[in-house]
Amino acid sequence: MEPHPTFPDRLRRLPKVLLHEHLDGGLRVGTLYELLHERGIALPAPDAASLALWFDANAHAGSLVKYLEGFALTVEAMSSPAAMERVAFEAAEDAREDGAVLAEFRIAPLLFESHGVPGEAAVEALLSGLAKSSLPTGLIVCAMRHLPVAETERAARLALRYQGRGVVAFDLAGAEFGHPPSEHASALKLVRDAGLGMTLHAGEADAAERVVEAARLGARRIGHGVHLVDGLRDPARRALVDEIIERGVHLEVCPTSNVHTGAAKSVATHPITALWRAGVSLSYHTDNRLMSFLTHTEEAATLLAETPLVEEDLLAMAAEAARHSFLPSAAREQALAAIAAWN
Ligand SMILES: [Zn+2]
Repeated sequence: MEPHPTFPDRLRRLPKVLLHEHLDGGLRVGTLYELLHERGIALPAPDAASLALWFDANAHAGSLVKYLEGFALTVEAMSSPAAMERVAFEAAEDAREDGAVLAEFRIAPLLFESHGVPGEAAVEALLSGLAKSSLPTGLIVCAMRHLPVAETERAARLALRYQGRGVVAFDLAGAEFGHPPSEHASALKLVRDAGLGMTLHAGEADAAERVVEAARLGARRIGHGVHLVDGLRDPARRALVDEIIERGVHLEVCPTSNVHTGAAKSVATHPITALWRAGVSLSYHTDNRLMSFLTHTEEAATLLAETPLVEEDLLAMAAEAARHSFLPSAAREQALAAIAAWN
């Protein structure tokens, strides 16, 4: 693994809107090392540099199981309110330094219960960490979709308790295949009825039909949605793409992460370009900076280097992302103004 290459400062400063990043997938490696060490947790590597190498090797192992191994480690390391506050603050600061003008971060707070931190304490620590940064941010509460619906309902109620106080949306994360959003319809109804934002992971490991299903259940944004491209490749399924466009649903696309988890073969052949050219509202995101060993600037650089997309496309995507953010309108307007001022 080479150290992070230095990109032209222009690309770092290019205004970005970060909508899809998991806090337990985006820790600074040095922070993770310190937290594991403090808590006396066995490390898979002797120092921070080798820990970064371990994540890099797992990300490139071509296996979702290997990729996910890292999350057990990060969740355990983050399992105290102080650690969560630190990780949330650092994520917001990293995004700000990486050109973000607005950012939404996500995590499943109930994952920390088995480590002794109640959901409320987790949400409050994360919100307090985010609030310490000057970057306008919001928190998305994820529920794990492989769990019974009673658990996703509990996560939805937790999210609703903090609606208007920093929690901006609800999400279903985890293994998509075999767990369609309809399995959690009652949890999604709670969110919809309360008017909380909803973004659902869909069309990452499953087909285009799941993207439309998620939209019909109330998702205004979709995590990944890459398989919506089925609707461009198969004329019989074109209506799926049309429905997503007509509903004004926005896709939070994470090209490098998709390559690492096997959802796409390469960034060069990733459907992001085809979907964008077809008129689908979408933007590009990091998903898991630690596991995928990348920054938002590097994701931008990769898209410019490996796809036909140009800087104007990335800027237009950022504007689409700002319009579809779940943050209050003042934050969205401010982000749009920063994007419009770019030259
Ligand atoms: Zn994700």
